Amino acid sequence: MVKKRRTKVIELKNVSKSYDGKPAVDNVSFSINKGEFVTFLGPSGCGKTTTLRMIAGFEKPTSGKIFIDGKDITEIPPHLRPVNTVFQRYALFPHLNVFNNVAFGLKLKKIPSGQYYTDKSGQKFEKLRKYTKEEIKRKVNEVLRLVDLEDYEARDVSSLSGGQQQRVAIARALVNDPEVLLLDEPLGALDLKMRKDMQIELMNMHKKLGITFVYVTHDQEEALTMSDTIIVMRHGVIQQIATPKKIYDEPANAFVADFIGESNIFSGIMLDDFKVSCMDHVFECVDKGFKKNQEIDVIIRPEDIYIIPKDNHAAMVIAHIESCVFKGDHYQIIAMVGEYELVIHETNEAIVGEDIGIFIKPFDFHIMPKARIINEIETEMVSDNVVDICGSNFDCNGMGLPEGTKVIASIPFDKVIIFDNEEDGKIGGEVVNTIYKGSYYQCIVRADNYYIFFVDTQDDWLKGDRVGIGINPEDIQIKAIEQNKS
Ligand code: ADP
Ligand code: MG
Repeated sequence: MVKKRRTKVIELKNVSKSYDGKPAVDNVSFSINKGEFVTFLGPSGCGKTTTLRMIAGFEKPTSGKIFIDGKDITEIPPHLRPVNTVFQRYALFPHLNVFNNVAFGLKLKKIPSGQYYTDKSGQKFEKLRKYTKEEIKRKVNEVLRLVDLEDYEARDVSSLSGGQQQRVAIARALVNDPEVLLLDEPLGALDLKMRKDMQIELMNMHKKLGITFVYVTHDQEEALTMSDTIIVMRHGVIQQIATPKKIYDEPANAFVADFIGESNIFSGIMLDDFKVSCMDHVFECVDKGFKKNQEIDVIIRPEDIYIIPKDNHAAMVIAHIESCVFKGDHYQIIAMVGEYELVIHETNEAIVGEDIGIFIKPFDFHIMPKARIINEIETEMVSDNVVDICGSNFDCNGMGLPEGTKVIASIPFDKVIIFDNEEDGKIGGEVVNTIYKGSYYQCIVRADNYYIFFVDTQDDWLKGDRVGIGINPEDIQIKAIEQNKS
């Protein structure tokens, strides 16, 4: 059998997009194969729509290049690209019926006529023509059949349900025979039941049409269900590109793990090959090749934790059951291992207040290098014991380094102080994300000059909240950057 060759249909090379100097998409590179169903997944504001709009041609990259079928189309306007977009808001014409909504674009479109003319300078051009009435009717009926609306031609779009309206929007995009269909949260406005049905319909449509679908959603379940490939984004940066199974089983970092389904995430140390320490215990794992005593994150899925009798020889640690809630097809159990909270999914009920044994298979400890282990800011000295951090002056032990010396200021995660009141801190910022690490929260705060602080705190800070950031002088370590190495 001949193996089908994969051909790239879309490729982005080092594409960035900034608004007023603020990066929305930050140096992304990826390619999408013909016929693939690719989903951009990430929290609101991570740059999914901006990426899609750049592929569509509605936004121009600040830097980088976009290719479709191997051609650089970075400068090509939207209507000349072989792509069509379906938006969350259907943007249908309320005064037109279903047929005319779908036919609208076709009526305006000019296509090659097969007839030629020669201009004064002798250059030959192909004449353009409009679609005939019959052609339009045939095309519209064909796509309406595809989206299951063949009897709705004459209906007023405002009389349709949300799901039906969205199908009209999809038909309108498909009638142009795009090579690539771009869908930006197309099911976002539908209720849960309708959304589930439409997910299946879209998957069937994708199979039937054989064209490339590029889908945007913030809903991880939707992404896991529908896609061949998922691209996880955060802060405009791609975190992982992989199949749904791989993203779920082997998340690239703590953010992906936290975003995809519920997870237990602990800070840990790789003591040696196959030996990890977390929750104040040492466990066997299947990972190797880390530095001795390297700080890492350990991720354990709730469904990979087994509850066994505490006197069973396989019990690795003893845990205390705090709560047990039935969730329809499993019990969600919270158990304490010392000061660490463990979320467990079990088919059997657990008894609150009981001590139980915990068993986890070695390959269910997912070990990930930490994105960083300390906050490091490249900056300079303002005077011999004052350093600039994000545009504010901080007292520090600058070891007498003169004004203007380029330095790296390091601040441990647990030494950054977050204030509820923005004015109480020296730097203002916004909470981007908070991950519970079993016994404390790791909070990510984007300062107004875009430096992103990692902060270990006891408080669960709300995403999107404005906060102030403070740092005590003794917690700032200063190191001069050597300038003479060029
Ligand atoms: P997502 O679709 O993942 O929710 P977007 O791509 O819409 O994210 O936005 C990414 C970031 O870019 C956000 O911080 C958003 O506020 C910003 N942004 C998007 N479009 C514009 C614009 N036209 N002007 C200024 N900022 C924008
Ligand atoms: Mg969006």
